[in-house]
Amino acid sequence: MFEALTDRLTDVFQRIGRKGRLTEQDVDEALREVRRALLEADVNYRVVKDFIAAVREQAIGEDVLRSLTPAQQVISIVHKELVRVLGSERVPLTWASQPPTVILLVGLQGSGKTTHVAKLGHHLRGEGRQPLLVAADIYRPAAVEQLRTLGRQHDLPVYDEGTQAKPVEIVKHAIKLARERRLDPVIVDTAGRLQIDERMMQELEEIKAAVRPSEILLVADAMTGQEAVSVAEEFHRRLQLTGLILTKMDGDARGGAALSIRSVVGVPIKFIGTGERVDALEPFYPERLATRILGMGDVLSLIEKAQQQISQEESERLQEKVLTGTFNLEDFLNQLQQIKRMGPLTQLLEMLPGVGQALRQQQVQISDDEYKHIEAIILSMTPEERRHPDIINFSRRRRIARGSGTSMAEVNQLLSQFKQMQRVMAQLGDMAGVGRRRGGLR
Ligand code: GDP
Repeated sequence: MFEALTDRLTDVFQRIGRKGRLTEQDVDEALREVRRALLEADVNYRVVKDFIAAVREQAIGEDVLRSLTPAQQVISIVHKELVRVLGSERVPLTWASQPPTVILLVGLQGSGKTTHVAKLGHHLRGEGRQPLLVAADIYRPAAVEQLRTLGRQHDLPVYDEGTQAKPVEIVKHAIKLARERRLDPVIVDTAGRLQIDERMMQELEEIKAAVRPSEILLVADAMTGQEAVSVAEEFHRRLQLTGLILTKMDGDARGGAALSIRSVVGVPIKFIGTGERVDALEPFYPERLATRILGMGDVLSLIEKAQQQISQEESERLQEKVLTGTFNLEDFLNQLQQIKRMGPLTQLLEMLPGVGQALRQQQVQISDDEYKHIEAIILSMTPEERRHPDIINFSRRRRIARGSGTSMAEVNQLLSQFKQMQRVMAQLGDMAGVGRRRGGLR
C-alpha cells in the first residue's frame, strides 16, 4: 500500500537531505513536489491545500532553516502533519455500560461488509470477547449464507432468521439472545446496496432508533478513492457514524481515501482491512501509517515481530539504540543473525527505514549469498571498527575487503548504507520521543 506515494516522497526528502542548508525557496520547491505527489495519490485537494499550508508555516521559520539539520526538521514537520491528517490518536471502540455492546456495520454492497463482520468478530474474540454475529443483510443474495459459512469456519456464533424476516426484528431478537447467553458484542451485518438509496437509509435509521448501537461503523472500499469519501459523507449525514473501517488497503489503491476521509468527514478510522483472510484486519494507528507512508519503515511493527524471537530485555535494548541513533555495526550483525530466523529477508528489510524504496528501485533480491557477504565484511572488522565505523579509513577498508573476500566497492557500499540508516533512525527517534511519552508503543 502507498508504494508510489512513498517513493515520490522519499525522493523529495532525499534531495533536500543532500543540501546542507535550506533556503525558503528550497522548501517551497520541495513542498510543490509533495503537493503534486499527494494529488496524484488521489488525496482530496482541500486536504492537500491545508496540509501544505500548515507544513509551510512551520517549516519556513528561522529556527528551522537556520538549524543544523533543516531537512530533518522539515521531514519531521511533514510527519507530524500527516499524523494529524490521519486523526492523531488511535480511537478505540466504545463499549456499552450495559452489555451487550451493539456494533452496526453499514456500507455499500461489495465494500467488504460481510467479510468484516467476521474479521471484527475474530479480532475481538482474540481480545477475550465472546461476539455474536448477526445476518441482517437480507437483500444481497447469499449474504446470510456467506456469514453462516464464515461463522462455521472460524467457530463464531451467527444469528439469522433467513431472508424473510424484518431486519429490525432480527437485530432485536439477536440482542435478546446475546443477553441470555452472555455474548458480547453483537456485530450486525446490515443491508447494503449498489448505491446509496432512500430505503436502505430509512431501514438503517430504524435499526439505529430501535437498538441504540454503541458503534455505527461504515465499511468503505479504499480502492474506490474519492468515491469512498463521498459515500462516507452521505452515511455520516444520515446516521452520525462513530467510525470507519477502510477495506482493501492491500490493493494498489493510491491511498487518497485513507488520507482524506478523516479530515473531510470528521470520523475516525478505527480499523483497516488488508486482505481477504479473516485475520487481515489491523487496528488503525495514525502515527504508524504516517511513518510507513514517509518510507521510514515500520520499525515499531518490526520490533513487535522481533519480540516474538528475542527476549524482552534484548528487544528493549535494541529499541533504545534504534531510537537514540546509537545502533552500531555490531548490533547490525547481531540483528541480521536474529532476523534470519524471523522470515524472508526482503520482507523484513521492507520494514526498515528507507530500505523498502531502495530495494524496489534497484530491484535488489537479497539472496543468502549477499547476506553472507555482509556478514563476512562485518566479521572482518575489529570490534572497535564495528562500534565506531567512522574510524574505518582507506587502508582499513582495503584490509576488510581482502579479509572478507569481497571488494572495496562492497565494503564502501555497506558502510554508506549503514550510515544513512543510522541517520534516519536517529531522526525517527526524535519523533518517537513524543509517542513514547504518550505510551505510543504497545
Ligand atoms: P459486502 O457486499 O459488502 O458484504 O462485501 P463482501 O464482504 O462480500 O466482500 C466483497 C469482496 O471483497 C469479497 O470477495 C471479499 O473477499 C473482498 N474483500 C473484503 N475485504 C477485503 C480486503 O480487505 N482486501 C481484499 N483484497 N479483499 C477484500
